[in-house]
Amino acid sequence: MAVTLETPLAKVLGPKTATGMAGSLGLHTVRHLLRHYPRRYAKRGEMARLDDLQAGDRVTVLAQVKTVSSRPMRQRRGMITEVTVGDGASTMKLVFFSYRNARLAPGVWGMFAGTVGSYQGKLQFTHPDMHLLSGDDDDDDWARELVPIYPASKDVSSWVIQKSVKLLLGGSGNLGDLVTDPLPEEIRTRHGLLSLPAALLDIHRPTTPEDVARAQRRLKWDEALTLQLTLAARRRAAALEPGTARPRKPGGLLDAVDAALPFALTEGQQEVGEELAAELDRDQPMHRLLQGEVGSGKTVVALRAMAQVVDAGGQAALLAPTEVLAAQHVRGIRALLGPLGRSGELDGDPAGTRVTLLTGSLKAAARREARAEVAEGRAGIVVGTHALLQEGVDFADLGLVVVDEQHRFGVEQRDALRAKGNRPPHVLVMTATPIPRTVAMTVYGDLEVSTLRQLPSGRGGVSSSVVPVTEKPGWLDRAWERLREEVAAGRQAYVVCPRIGDVPGDEPEDADGAPPDEDGRSDRRPPLAVLDVAEALRSGPLAGLRLDVLHGRMTPEEKDGVMRAFAAGETQVLVATTVVEVGVDVPNATVMVVMDADRFGVSQLHQLRGRVARGAHAGLCLLVTEAPSASPTGERLASVAGTSDGFELARLDLETRREGDVLGAAQSGKRSGIRMLSLLEDEDLIAEARTEAAALLAGDRGLADHPGLAAEVAALASDDRAEWLEKA
Ligand code: ADP
Ligand code: MG
Repeated sequence: MAVTLETPLAKVLGPKTATGMAGSLGLHTVRHLLRHYPRRYAKRGEMARLDDLQAGDRVTVLAQVKTVSSRPMRQRRGMITEVTVGDGASTMKLVFFSYRNARLAPGVWGMFAGTVGSYQGKLQFTHPDMHLLSGDDDDDDWARELVPIYPASKDVSSWVIQKSVKLLLGGSGNLGDLVTDPLPEEIRTRHGLLSLPAALLDIHRPTTPEDVARAQRRLKWDEALTLQLTLAARRRAAALEPGTARPRKPGGLLDAVDAALPFALTEGQQEVGEELAAELDRDQPMHRLLQGEVGSGKTVVALRAMAQVVDAGGQAALLAPTEVLAAQHVRGIRALLGPLGRSGELDGDPAGTRVTLLTGSLKAAARREARAEVAEGRAGIVVGTHALLQEGVDFADLGLVVVDEQHRFGVEQRDALRAKGNRPPHVLVMTATPIPRTVAMTVYGDLEVSTLRQLPSGRGGVSSSVVPVTEKPGWLDRAWERLREEVAAGRQAYVVCPRIGDVPGDEPEDADGAPPDEDGRSDRRPPLAVLDVAEALRSGPLAGLRLDVLHGRMTPEEKDGVMRAFAAGETQVLVATTVVEVGVDVPNATVMVVMDADRFGVSQLHQLRGRVARGAHAGLCLLVTEAPSASPTGERLASVAGTSDGFELARLDLETRREGDVLGAAQSGKRSGIRMLSLLEDEDLIAEARTEAAALLAGDRGLADHPGLAAEVAALASDDRAEWLEKA
């Protein structure tokens, strides 16, 4: 059988191993496995990593057996065997119950994988998976200086992956037949890159750390170039598209909005506003990203652009990540437009338009009516969630697409909405997560960027603190006292939890940023749940306060009712999931207590606390966690508490998230095509690849002369996520 990159793994490795790899690691073909790179390389006698372990971590360690002792168990029949293993610097205990293995003897090296537990203050593995390395091991794998440690799972251990890869690599030689190098020779020479077969061999079976570095550089190049080719193709296509100019018309909605605004625009809002107004007036579609700190006032900038488009006879759609936020936008816009936003109603102004809400949970009749308004063009402004993207939602003349909180969406969604225009509409995407240059060159590589630097004046600001409950149990009581004080002073508070609760299999609601442990899994206690915490607070520290809950499992009417009551000040404390993360705007709320704060990502925490920085009063954000202050998690939380600089936090966020999450279909955890490229470290490489990509596509023939590269681009596109390539 001729093996190719697309050969299913089952044909090469047998069904059992292949099923495990497909199920838990998403590896289906030879290509996938070859691109499943080691996470790191263990070096014998140098496993200082043992020192970094924490209870709950799932890890693989390479260590030597020091002592083995067995004794009868006290409570039960059978023996307990305790094994001490060490890596030279530190030791760790392994515990086995009624288990005998003659090979488990002092002096033997082995790889041990499991979840770190702690017993009487000492770290230990109970019944780890292990692979003992002995002289009679069938080959030289374990004599190697560098042992690859792969991202593994319970079903497929690192050493099974190692063996499987070795099988594919055929010992060493014939990889050249299997893999042809897509990279043109001249680019390889210009940048001093290894050939692809050599790089794959070195990444999986390196002899020296230098091998690894050279291989990584080459493999990163592939990723960067493929990505940049994709983006360059998109930009090229976009530049050729004919759009529709939506010039400014006096005496319409825009003027009405400006007259109704209860505040003066900041300088930044005015400048960006002019920029957008001018771009909307061109017949080449705008592709612009508006970034601005949480609370910098992006919404009104977007609304003014939408008003201009409606004045020019088009429709504008605003895509929001949650129903709560969509409903809030609609309320805000309707309030500003007054009768001009109620055209067709009794008290409406016939010269105005309609502001229509379209969400997934509308009842059938309401949805039909909303869709009709959109299709017939009666709705000038359409606000909605993912439901906007569905088939059957057709616009009479979509002129502007605004995506709020873009970081919550993928490029696919932006494009799905864009595709609903008769001609390509103008596009404005907004994000509160400041964007490092590398991300701008990649995720947003096809957009122009505007930035709102200033916050509207008269804001109280937020101070944040970490509440480490394990070390300072008393601080949590103090937190609830502070909350009561604020409420007594007439303010309101949020308590945010990672989970809803009360349902079997209840998953964390969208706590996307919690960093995975070494093997990408966590076996910690379940995160705190809204329903449980609300109950405990009601009958405990917050007894007597008017408290309510908000989460994603409530119906939209329920959610809307709860938000209204909170906005009106009737509810004093809102216990919620991250449904309040984005955009929720209740200026009288000044306290936010985030429970299990370690379960949230950096940007998410920054967004969350933005909820209590919206009025004239100073806000307070308390990050409650069981993580020790000195742990990486504790330090991460301390950084969030210590700075309000969005750019610094965005960088921190990049450090703690998997790159694929940033690049790809955000939190979906899908395969992203980006395995090795680091947005933090590879800025120069990405810039070089960007230049090469532009040069490759500069001619008329596109990639016609480089079928290998075209295939890589196509493979990225079929890599589950990049549906967007089709449109490029
Ligand atoms: P974000 O950029 O985070 O989306 P919003 O658009 O929700 O911020 O604005 C935050 C709050 O600031 C809102 O209550 C909004 O009405 C208010 N706001 C916006 N622009 C100004 C301004 N120029 N002066 C005062 N308040 C403003
Ligand atoms: Mg917003």
